[in-house]
Amino acid sequence: MSRQLLTTDVVIVGAGIAGLWLHHRLNDLGYHVLLLENGEIGQGQTLSSQGIIHGGSKYALNGILSKASQVISTMPARWKACLDGQGEIDLSSVKKLTEHQLLWSQDRLSSKMVSFFASKALRSRMQFVEKKQRPAPFSDPAFKGALYQLDEPVLDVPSLLESLIKPWQERMLAVPADADYQWLKNGDQIESLLVGQQFEIKAKQFILTAGEGNESVIKSMQQEQPAMQRRPLQMLLCKSRDANNPLPTIYAHSLGSGSKPIATISSHQDKTGNVVWYLGGNIAEQGVGKAPEALIGEARVLLTEILPWVELPELEWATHPVNRAEPQQSNRSRPDSAFVSSQGNLHVCWPTKLALAPDLADQAISAIEKSGLVADTHQNPDFPHPQVAASLWDRAFS
Ligand SMILES: Cc1cc2nc3c(=O)[nH]c(=O)nc-3n(C[C@H](O)[C@H](O)[C@H](O)COP(=O)(O)OP(=O)(O)OC[C@H]3O[C@@H](n4cnc5c(N)ncnc54)[C@H](O)[C@@H]3O)c2cc1C
Repeated sequence: MSRQLLTTDVVIVGAGIAGLWLHHRLNDLGYHVLLLENGEIGQGQTLSSQGIIHGGSKYALNGILSKASQVISTMPARWKACLDGQGEIDLSSVKKLTEHQLLWSQDRLSSKMVSFFASKALRSRMQFVEKKQRPAPFSDPAFKGALYQLDEPVLDVPSLLESLIKPWQERMLAVPADADYQWLKNGDQIESLLVGQQFEIKAKQFILTAGEGNESVIKSMQQEQPAMQRRPLQMLLCKSRDANNPLPTIYAHSLGSGSKPIATISSHQDKTGNVVWYLGGNIAEQGVGKAPEALIGEARVLLTEILPWVELPELEWATHPVNRAEPQQSNRSRPDSAFVSSQGNLHVCWPTKLALAPDLADQAISAIEKSGLVADTHQNPDFPHPQVAASLWDRAFS
């Protein structure tokens, strides 16, 4: 059987947030772009994310506005424009879970911390919430701590994916999970990608946004660079055993005495409408390698410590081990910004945050436009389209 020949201006490999955002932008700009997915759309880190459109406040809790917090600080406004239907991509149909991620400290914050939060640098991003304006469960008089509101919305990621897929779905190609890739080159320019025995795809530019999969795709070119790092997490999920007595919705970082949130809670609905708490932050970082039952035991205790005034229903628990895939850093630290590395007509990308997808797309578009790419006319022949993965809330508790 001979391979089906496809021609296009640009090939993007991997349909997580990075690939979907870039695919949408490039097709809108008039290029013909094919997006390849070898599993289900969003199945990697994207559907494991908490959907927080970070503005960097979380990274400033040590009292320092680092480079990371400056680069990312422009992202919430950019996303908000899209969510209002005014930005570079129309995301007006995306479900916003909350306008503002919160940050609470059970005890009073130290005066040093309070003055930092009130400082000019942070005032626009983080505001003290007065007692009368606090949402449940922080409106309970038994809560004696401090509550801050961040300028960071939280999005329902499945609805975000639907919105990004819809306009250009006919240019998304499902490739077999086990197909190997071969690259036909002329000097440092790639001319074609052979996908197993199924497809030959000729293009002028090739972009990798395959998350953790970038590593093996790079290897398929007999290359080692750019190198990737994995930063693992063991996230936790819990929900009430009685859907008629659900958990309250919380979107908040819990702050202790350290500069990293002890836990970050986001709330999501499973398909029965029950509220699922998704727990990240320090507990998920420290939970790596622990037996799920042991970590769940620790999380049960933690919830009673950070939310002592909240009466929790009987809970069902699950854990979710997942890797963050990023460009390698010298000390395996968190990268500061979205990453694009170009060699010839190959561009390797890691957004490093869902929130940074618009920035990643800017960088990748600028890299391929520098090459003088001209849009051509191409056909959209019949080929299989990838499905969207189920949400984590509906697959974690099996
Ligand atoms: C637990 C967790 C919580 C997070 N929470 C947040 C948050 O609240 N806010 C935030 O801003 N960021 C968050 N992040 C980070 C964010 O989720 C990631 O930076 C982002 O989703 C990465 O997107 P991506 O498109 O690069 O990769 P992925 O989402 O991993 O997508 C890669 C895609 O490529 C496909 N693929 C792999 N190999 C191949 C191949 N050979 N051929 C074709 N396709 C391939 C995969 O199937 C997958 O669909 C979180 C990350 C984790 C792990």
